[in-house]
Amino acid sequence: MSISVRQMVKRFGRTEVLRGIDLTVEKGELVALLGPSGSGKTTLLKILAGLEWPDSGALEVEGQDWLKLEAQQRRTGFVFQHYALFPHMTVRDNLAFGLTVRPKAERPSKAQIADKVAELLEFLQITPLADRFPAALSGGQRQRVALGRALAIEPKLLLLDEPFGALDASIRRDLRRWLRQVHEATGSTTILVTHDQEEAAELADRVVVMGEGRIEQIGSVDHLHDYPANPFVARFTGATV
Ligand code: ADP
Repeated sequence: MSISVRQMVKRFGRTEVLRGIDLTVEKGELVALLGPSGSGKTTLLKILAGLEWPDSGALEVEGQDWLKLEAQQRRTGFVFQHYALFPHMTVRDNLAFGLTVRPKAERPSKAQIADKVAELLEFLQITPLADRFPAALSGGQRQRVALGRALAIEPKLLLLDEPFGALDASIRRDLRRWLRQVHEATGSTTILVTHDQEEAAELADRVVVMGEGRIEQIGSVDHLHDYPANPFVARFTGATV
């Protein structure tokens, strides 16, 4: 069971932002989209999330045609760099929110939601923060909660867009390590957008190098480093050619 993107094209006006993307991600894999600003990474992520629609192409998740589903039906969790927590809700309520707005047939009871939130707080090691409001959290703590909120719905697909981009280098390193552990424990299929090759190297099973709406190369960090397909890939994986 996997995610399959086929021949995906997206235009904004006359600009072709995605120029025929083909990508398969295996269940449980963590894939990083790496590339310069403007290469189409966020647009691809938004299409996966159901926040944008492609002009053509196909998207299947676990054999289901996802382009036929609304965003709410997709069971996607996402964390964006500036996707703020709800400021008027405590950490506990922020974590519960995604569950309270599930389609009716899938919505857990209040007691089930409380249990799930308690379990998440424990798992993410943020129980002491449960009754705080976002304004009383550090940037790193906020992003942990944001990830918890995304994980609460047990997403089929977890989408992370520069989740730690706004944070200091040392906090980023800690959160990366923590994210890797969370990923190993949950096994969620995850797509991470980054322009930081160190982040991609530490986290990703495979890296997808994007440039100007195309996939330039896909492979493990070591493979891309040792055998870059072209100078563009080499520039992004630290190799010199
Ligand atoms: P990346 O995430 O790699 O930085 P994006 O997917 O955000 O790239 O953007 C790719 C291109 O699409 C950029 O040239 C950007 O200006 C353009 N773009 C993104 N969103 C929109 C939009 N809503 N309307 C018009 N152009 C857009």
